[in-house]
Amino acid sequence: MEFDCDYAMLIGGRLDGGSARFDVLNPATEQVIGSAPDASKDDLDRAIAAARAAFPDWAATPIAERKAALNAMGRAVMAEADALKRLLTAEQGKPHAEAAGEIMGAGYWLMGAASLDMPVTVNEDSAERYSETRHVPLGVVGAISPWNFPLLLAMFKVGPALLAGNTMVLKPSPFTPLSTLKFGELVKDLLPPGVLNIISGGDALGPWMTSHPGFDKISFTGSTATGRRVMESAAPTLKRVTLELGGNDAAIVMPDVDVEKVAEELFWAAFRNNGQICVATKRMYVHRDIYEPLKDALVAYASTVKVGDGSEQGTQIGPINNAAQYARVLELIEDARDKGYTFLVGGEAADVPGYFIPVTILDNPPEDSRIVQEEQFGPVLPLIKFDDFDDVVARANASEYGLGGSVWGRDEDKAFAIAERIASGTVWVNETQHLSPTAAFGGMKQSGVGVEGGLDGLLEYTNAQTIVRRKKTAA
Ligand code: NAD
Repeated sequence: MEFDCDYAMLIGGRLDGGSARFDVLNPATEQVIGSAPDASKDDLDRAIAAARAAFPDWAATPIAERKAALNAMGRAVMAEADALKRLLTAEQGKPHAEAAGEIMGAGYWLMGAASLDMPVTVNEDSAERYSETRHVPLGVVGAISPWNFPLLLAMFKVGPALLAGNTMVLKPSPFTPLSTLKFGELVKDLLPPGVLNIISGGDALGPWMTSHPGFDKISFTGSTATGRRVMESAAPTLKRVTLELGGNDAAIVMPDVDVEKVAEELFWAAFRNNGQICVATKRMYVHRDIYEPLKDALVAYASTVKVGDGSEQGTQIGPINNAAQYARVLELIEDARDKGYTFLVGGEAADVPGYFIPVTILDNPPEDSRIVQEEQFGPVLPLIKFDDFDDVVARANASEYGLGGSVWGRDEDKAFAIAERIASGTVWVNETQHLSPTAAFGGMKQSGVGVEGGLDGLLEYTNAQTIVRRKKTAA
């Protein structure tokens, strides 16, 4: 498969080029790489109607067949990883190797969802009655995905929603619609028409979806600010919502770490995907005893990392995905400069085409600085010194966010004991960002509502239904 210019939506099992188009840019060059359909309200209505029509049969399809379809989709996307990776790099910016990893992950996530089973709980089985609680699909799900991991985060939704017997209308971000549209083309014949519909569009399409009475649920991944709007817009029709939102993950580095060993891992915890990861380390608290050597090791490592066009051999960090996010990260850097904070490395964006920002590390900015308190979602990391464990836990938790976090230390029990005190949906000890399709992932506080992954994530695509049968003998 080669990528081309005729990216189409998938509506009711048919590819549909739409009546209007919008351009998609390569963030490394700012050149147009293709165009995507700009869905109209009518296109959205048609996609929802197709999903609604497909729902009864799909819900009644034996779960084994639904699993088989997801496994086939997973294999199909993995088989095209090479071509898709080039497309994903072109629209997202990440290096080819990471794009390939995301695509393989997307296939793995579909297969992982297919390994889950729907539980039935027997509440009572007595002489008088039998009572069970089972889980039935909700109906039509609207899925809205972001631009940092376009395909993988869409599959976080597609797998469990379809496994549970729902049908779906999926909308990728306007910055990265192309790989998701190609995915639709790849899997079109692996599902009955209308089970999965994919539509793309501009800024108006998301709000049309969240307020549309035709959806039973909205599953959204994106920023906390947009998440609030999604919840508000879903309220009048009481749609179910799952919201996977922003984070400001703290890494706590204990005094007993082997600095040389962990420096590289800590670097990538913050800078993988150019810092554009919901669970990237966004503030790094380093114990006073090792602050200087770790700082030096991080700065030394940073100077070896190649930032550039993700399609070029050897690139380890690509550009920021889009102009708005580029401006936001530069604004945070500007604020740090205005306040007189110390830059250990980076801080000056070169005047070249593309949304490139160099790896930037700040030396111990104040706790109340914007770069510590806000989600940067870019390659700017504040290192912050601490010396008291209770204090660092309090600082890590003093945030409206509660998505992820990590604790690093040679004494694993001690690190674990700190990890247990972090108020986040996921906390890692001596690693970060390890997620699984069979484990619940979600945010505490304003990092989200509900979870994705695992049985908990699957059940969010269902209504619990209790059926109580009085036994003849009791009548
Ligand atoms: P965003 O909120 O700008 O956009 C996300 C999606 O929502 C896009 O498809 C966009 O078109 C759509 N959208 C925008 N406005 C909308 C509205 N009013 N109603 C409905 N839909 C609307 O987020 P982004 O900039 O694409 O992604 C970055 C953010 O996502 C970061 O904050 C990051 O932490 C978060 N994120 C969270 C997770 C997670 O799992 N918790 C994963 C990845 C990214």
